[in-house]
Amino acid sequence: MPAPQCASCHTARAALRRPRSGQALCGACFCAAFEAEVLHTVLAGRLLPPGAVVAVGASGGKDSTVLAHVLRELAPRLGISLHLVAVDEGIGGYRDAALAAVRRQAARWDLPLTVVAYADLFGGWTMDAVARSTAGSGRSRACCTFCGVLRRRALEEGARLVGATHVVTGHNADDMAETVLMNFLRGDAGRLARGGGLGSPGEGGALPRCRPLQLASQKEVVLYAHFRRLDYFSEECVYAPEAFRGHARDLLKMLEAARPSAVLDLVHSAERLALAPAARPPPPGACSRCGALASRALCQACALLDGLNRGRPRLAIGKGRRGLDEEGPPREPQPSRPLTSEPVPDF
Ligand code: SF4
Repeated sequence: MPAPQCASCHTARAALRRPRSGQALCGACFCAAFEAEVLHTVLAGRLLPPGAVVAVGASGGKDSTVLAHVLRELAPRLGISLHLVAVDEGIGGYRDAALAAVRRQAARWDLPLTVVAYADLFGGWTMDAVARSTAGSGRSRACCTFCGVLRRRALEEGARLVGATHVVTGHNADDMAETVLMNFLRGDAGRLARGGGLGSPGEGGALPRCRPLQLASQKEVVLYAHFRRLDYFSEECVYAPEAFRGHARDLLKMLEAARPSAVLDLVHSAERLALAPAARPPPPGACSRCGALASRALCQACALLDGLNRGRPRLAIGKGRRGLDEEGPPREPQPSRPLTSEPVPDF
């Protein structure tokens, strides 16, 4: 049976059915609709004002690749300029190839690119060194706990280095739903309370951060990359199989099979969640070492590095530290001042 006509242009044959709406569209109309929806998210949420210098967290993966491409398309209408900022976590056999993809994107799209490395920012610590330190086996369950905190800090540092006024990351609706599930499963009321919305306004001197793809499903992100023929890196990080996030992802897939709206329902539930006063976390103060927002004497990044430098990394992630997350997606606002005076490489 021939494919139906595109429901938008009524001339081309449809190439897909949109996962949520079932609408049959050709590739060109789907991409135009996807871009229009991201534009609406940005404008309705007032995420990126005209004149903003936007640091795009670029990992080389599909989400940040799609985000950079869509924002580049929309930049003239939004009146913003873009700068790719990539973080080299120091993960052998993984990050080098991903960074190569980011460099190809920057060259192809004529966008400036800056790479910041954990080793330079964090006193020589790379994720591979953290893995060896935390487990002795080279593959630790704690890796993503460290990496999520440090990467957030590194992206902030990179964004400041290039003079950005805003930071954007490529988290999609599935990522956000997984984060909500993880926070529920850990009983982390503080993070649930902070997890809603499309980003953080830049509390405590941190740059405003947002997620323009937060309402886009992972399936549509992949479809957009396919129809735009985007070149991205699709291999999984060597530490990912250890992450708790994988369990939340599996659970979400089961939920979505039974209830297709589960992903967006979870994202919106975090936006609408209201905590009883007794369950609300105390207002954060400032880290005594770096000045970033912190609910204790030290912020998460400084506490983790402290534990690593003392050779007691588990102190930083053990009992009483369950507020730490296990992967990159949206966290509480973090640092506002440079962590170290180490030189940061500029590419
Ligand atoms: Fe970092 Fe974990 Fe993501 Fe690997 S999977 S890049 S260790 S957060």
